[in-house]
Amino acid sequence: MYYGVLHMISQQQAAPAILRLSVLPFFNALMTEAREELVNTLAAVADDQGHAGRIISEWLLEQSELPTPAQLREMAKQSRLANPGANADDSCRCGGGGFAGAWYLATLQGQKRPVKYEFLAEISPNGTTPPEVQEMNDILKRKGITDFEQQVTIATRRCTACAYGQRLALAKQMAEHEQPEPKRRR
Ligand SMILES: [Zn+2]
Repeated sequence: MYYGVLHMISQQQAAPAILRLSVLPFFNALMTEAREELVNTLAAVADDQGHAGRIISEWLLEQSELPTPAQLREMAKQSRLANPGANADDSCRCGGGGFAGAWYLATLQGQKRPVKYEFLAEISPNGTTPPEVQEMNDILKRKGITDFEQQVTIATRRCTACAYGQRLALAKQMAEHEQPEPKRRR
């Protein structure tokens, strides 16, 4: 736990947003401490849950690598300037972030191939772990499967229930349409 930092939102609110970075290479290989550091940073720099979601959305639209804590901080600043009022609907099930999470079984298929996600359950509104998730965790443990093979995780899809989520989806479509260019070299 970290006690020295003033958090704008809770780590529980920041964690689902950080988990969206799992579409980027190497996220699943991050040490737990490194993930916690990202959660902690986002919790400290985001004004609210919707802002946290937008910080990550904007990162994902532009970047193909994981952010450092310093980059998250910078993105928070940019996002705040770009979205003074924002049109996000904080009462939506996506919390205004434009993405809705659900529980998935993630199967790692090596660094060259994308992680495979299989839907397990919706996220319970009261924050409890759904029985399907508990059951899958038990199975993985019983079989001795490590996090580097398969893990139960929260992943997110664009929210289609609010205008903000729909706008994000549209922006992504347009961006993809505009740049069929080959992958940028690092
Ligand atoms: Zn929504």
